[in-house]
Formats: sequence, C-alpha cells, structure tokens
Amino acid sequence: MGERDEGLIRFLMRERHGSPFEHGYFRFVVKAPLFVVREHHRHRAGHSYNEWSGRYSKMEPEFYVPENVRTQVGKPGAYSFEPVEDEVRVDAQREIQENATRAFQAYERMLEQGVAKEVARAVLPLSTYTKYYWSCNPRSLMHFCSLRNHEAAQFEIRQYAAAAESFLEQEMPVTHAAFVANDRIAP
Ligand SMILES: Cc1cc2nc3c(=O)[nH]c(=O)nc-3n(C[C@H](O)[C@H](O)[C@H](O)COP(=O)(O)OP(=O)(O)OC[C@H]3O[C@@H](n4cnc5c(N)ncnc54)[C@H](O)[C@@H]3O)c2cc1C
Repeated sequence: MGERDEGLIRFLMRERHGSPFEHGYFRFVVKAPLFVVREHHRHRAGHSYNEWSGRYSKMEPEFYVPENVRTQVGKPGAYSFEPVEDEVRVDAQREIQENATRAFQAYERMLEQGVAKEVARAVLPLSTYTKYYWSCNPRSLMHFCSLRNHEAAQFEIRQYAAAAESFLEQEMPVTHAAFVANDRIAP
C-alpha cells in the first residue's frame, strides 16, 4: 500500500463514503454468555451469525461468573457503574454460581426424564455460554465497535468488541487508524 492508497482510505472514511469498506471479510468463532449474545445479535447490517443448536446438542455446563461486580449509580441516561465492596462481590458471585449449578442440575434431570433439549433449556440462566460463528465486513465491524467498544456499552460486550477491534487494527491498520481519527464513527 502506497501513500496515495492511504490518503484515499482516509478520504473515504472522512467523507463517510462507506461501501468500499464492505469488501473485506472477518470471521470469528465466539463463545459468550447468552446475555451478551442477545446484545451482539442486534447488529444486523453486514453481519451473519450461526449458533450452536441448543435444540439438537446438549448445552455444556459452562456459566459466566463476573469478576467485575458493580453497582449502578446516577439516573436513567446518565448511569455510571462502580465496583462493589469485596463482601458484596463474593456474595453475588456465589449467588450466580449456585443458581447456575442448580439450573443445570434441573436441566439434566429433565433430559433424563426424556424431556426434549429444546424444552429443558428453558431452565438455564442468561449466564450460560453458547458458541457461534460471526462474520462481518470491515464497515459493519467498525459500526459494531463504535457502539459496543464504547463506555456506554455494557462491560461484558465491550470486552468482546475490544477483542474484535484488535483484529481490525492488526489486519487493516490504515483503515483502523482512519476510523479512530474520525472519532470512531463508521463510514
Ligand atoms: C448502549 C446501548 C444501549 C442499548 N439499549 C437498548 C435497549 O434498551 N433496548 C433495545 O431494544 N436495544 C438497545 N440497544 C440496541 C440498539 O438499539 C441497536 O439495536 C443495536 O445497537 C444495533 O445497532 P444498529 O441498528 O445501528 O446496527 P445494525 O442493525 O447493524 O444496523 C446498521 C445500520 O443500518 C441501518 N439500518 C439497519 N436496519 C435498519 C432498518 N430496519 N431501518 C432503517 N435503517 C436500518 C441503520 O443506519 C443502522 O445504524 C442498545 C445499544 C447500545 C449500544
């Protein structure tokens, strides 16, 4: 890539001439808790998803237990999230862990009684991990990162968005630098 190409990329980004950024292709294999997946799969334009089937395959007993237990302060539209006291964090982690363990035991009991996987899974919590393929193009990836690798996004999805953005930065450094220089607004 020469200086002229780099200049053109910066121009396209600045002018929000976005469609040239649709010709690249990223494919990720993601493992995430269900509540993160619900947020992720809201991103429609230029994204494709295929998820491990909880109808045909048994769900694995893997659950997310947050390290970062926080409290919500402020008012709607202007919340901030502060870490809780250690004692509260440990109690919350135990509640989440115990609830998930009990839920998975109930799931197993139902399967043993012949209940279909698609029905028994109703007992599993939002912390359950699932897996899926996620494909997108650089433009749709930038739009995702602009919304989800952002302080307003929930901490957990932000970790995923930051990881995805690191691949954009690694594979398309000039495009990524232009995105950042353009206040992280996707073209
Ligand atoms: C901090 C945060 C809080 C959120 N809170 C909530 C919430 O409380 N409740 C909730 O339901 N969702 C919530 N969302 C999800 C949000 O409303 C969007 O669904 C999500 O961020 C996907 O964004 P998008 O539609 O721009 O992306 P995509 O679906 O990828 O669309 C990309 C772009 O394509 C265009 N586009 C796509 N589809 C259409 C269409 N049908 N009509 C016109 N233009 C279209 C738009 O320009 C859009 O920006 C939240 C998102 C964030 C980041």
